[in-house]
Amino acid sequence: TEAWRPEDDEPRGASGPVRVRVPAKVNLHLGVGPLRRDGYHELNTVYHAISIYDELTARRGDTLTLTMEGEGTGELALDDSNLVLRAAHALAGYAGVMPHARLHLRKQIPLAGGLAGGSADAAAALVACDALWGTGLSRDELAGIAADLGSDVPFLIHGGTALGTGRGEAVSPVLARPTSWHWVVAIADGGLSTPQAYRELDRLRETGAAGPPLGSTDGLLAALRQRDPRVLAATLGNDLQDAALAMRPSLAATLKAGEAAGALAGIVSGSGPTCVFLTADAADAERVAVELEAAGVCRQARIAHGPVPGARIT
Ligand code: ATP
Repeated sequence: TEAWRPEDDEPRGASGPVRVRVPAKVNLHLGVGPLRRDGYHELNTVYHAISIYDELTARRGDTLTLTMEGEGTGELALDDSNLVLRAAHALAGYAGVMPHARLHLRKQIPLAGGLAGGSADAAAALVACDALWGTGLSRDELAGIAADLGSDVPFLIHGGTALGTGRGEAVSPVLARPTSWHWVVAIADGGLSTPQAYRELDRLRETGAAGPPLGSTDGLLAALRQRDPRVLAATLGNDLQDAALAMRPSLAATLKAGEAAGALAGIVSGSGPTCVFLTADAADAERVAVELEAAGVCRQARIAHGPVPGARIT
């Protein structure tokens, strides 16, 4: 049987462009366990989606193409190694449709920043192509395809605040009060490689130079059920932070500057080099961002709030 093609003039799918917005993620808690036999580390993490977004537009086409603008343009390959195209192919294969679309990515999430921008784009591509092609998968089905594309991709389908286990792909939502937390996101010049950060952590642990691993997420989960950012600030943690600091010693000055500017706490986001700071409110976030930029300890400081939803059609 022939595969169903979106251009066969059936009512299936969208005829106009589909625009999807997808957030960046930070890890409020990133507990890195032992290295598994499959090469991944066992993770115990709390993901949190924040209001820095990439946007993917999908239009009908005769082939599959990808163009982009914004962060990483000229650096990021637009061939089949790109997570957007890998996601489109994965969905088309799963649903038995031709992977035909003209995709355009507007990127605001920095490349290799520890904010899971690539995973976000993969999640956006799944949601956009599902609508464009009328394949009508459930969010859980999309999250299933997402897990094969990368550990962070299922979370970016769901968004919000969620517990991640396994290699991070097993996601369950965290019940929290409907509170908005105010963040400052200090974006560095250049990226850090995630696999290299994990190798550096293994090396630091072997030589006894790593700090003690984080404990359970219980304290953080309890803090999320309250409204006090000071309580939450005391529970943030990232086992990869020592590795990121070893690879990029200048991040110590960034973290210090944020706290000196009045942030309640600062941590490296994921594998870095982005640092995120929790502040008491939106006005404090503005102030801290201005001071961080003035101190010259980052390329750019942006304010953000969270939690926000995952990949959604706008
Ligand atoms: P994570 O926090 O998930 O480890 P990151 O934020 O550090 O990721 P990303 O920007 O997600 O880093 O991507 C890391 C690498 O993935 C890039 O250096 C690039 O080689 C590859 N990649 C493939 N497709 C994309 C994409 N659409 N956007 C960004 N990176 C991509």
